[in-house]
Amino acid sequence: MRFNGRLPHAPLCPCCEQERQAEPLLSRRSALRGALGLGLACAAVTPVFAQDGAPRRLRAERVGTEDSFDGIYWRDGAYDRDALRQLDWVFRDLSRAEVTPMDPRLFDVLHTVAQRLESTESYQVISGYRSPETNAANAARSRRVSTVSLHMSGMACDSRLPGRDAYGFARQAAQMQLGGVGLYRRDSFVHLDCGPVRRW
Ligand SMILES: [Zn+2]
Repeated sequence: MRFNGRLPHAPLCPCCEQERQAEPLLSRRSALRGALGLGLACAAVTPVFAQDGAPRRLRAERVGTEDSFDGIYWRDGAYDRDALRQLDWVFRDLSRAEVTPMDPRLFDVLHTVAQRLESTESYQVISGYRSPETNAANAARSRRVSTVSLHMSGMACDSRLPGRDAYGFARQAAQMQLGGVGLYRRDSFVHLDCGPVRRW
């Protein structure tokens, strides 16, 4: 099943909030951690990916647009510059029409998680890059939004994966310990980033 609806306001995620943030969120996180049965992990390590040398493919569609990418973005030991440019467009800041070079390790996270889930569906990308202005506007709307979001560094995205419920998607991704994983049950999406390993 695909999500094709336009979002009047993209759901917000507090993706990069650390434990210093508001107590209600901490409580909710604790409940989520308990539900996931995964415990808290936070380690400043570089994600490690399978180095089998096989080409890396990604399928992604931008919710609310006609933009998508379906192809190889890494092969023979190198990222494909043209593919990365196309992906940067799909993951752009929609509200300000700004494109930034995304951190390609984010695509490695998405690729690796899709492989683990044995999914050939396209990620439904709700939010990718956020300009500082967009993030500030979001933060003004919600105290849950971090002012130091990894979305601003092109290192994070919020998405759904058709055929997978958000809980299962988040749980599998968290078990892989590739970066940050946030489950947003109410809006049924998952935040993934290529920052330090952590979950909420
Ligand atoms: Zn996020």
